[in-house]
Amino acid sequence: MSILAQPDDWALVRRYLRIEGYGGQPLRGGVRWRFEITDPQDGAIKRRLAAIQTPCATCGRVLHPVRPRDGRQRWYYAVACEQDRQFRCSRNRKASREYERIRSAYKRWRDGLPAAPPEPQGTLF
Ligand SMILES: [Zn+2]
Repeated sequence: MSILAQPDDWALVRRYLRIEGYGGQPLRGGVRWRFEITDPQDGAIKRRLAAIQTPCATCGRVLHPVRPRDGRQRWYYAVACEQDRQFRCSRNRKASREYERIRSAYKRWRDGLPAAPPEPQGTLF
């Protein structure tokens, strides 16, 4: 499961999502990405963002993907359990694939493309 399957939540999150590449060296996984949440400057929207729940991309436990970093000054988006609880959830292929799906969906939205690539058309004959 994914926030992409929760259209209302996704529509809210993507407005404040800012995906930043870092680690210029082409390491094993290439560029890495930070999923930052910009400050909505609005308490009601902040509460809505903080209240969103999604299943962990790895273990399925329900979690709050929008979380504060650095003493609540900056927020970020996470697809997996917090590292201090379940380190194995955040550093594995399921989590990276979910980040990749979100990044791709975000890019399509920002570029004004449909939410997903069109389904292959059936043949006429
Ligand atoms: Zn987990």
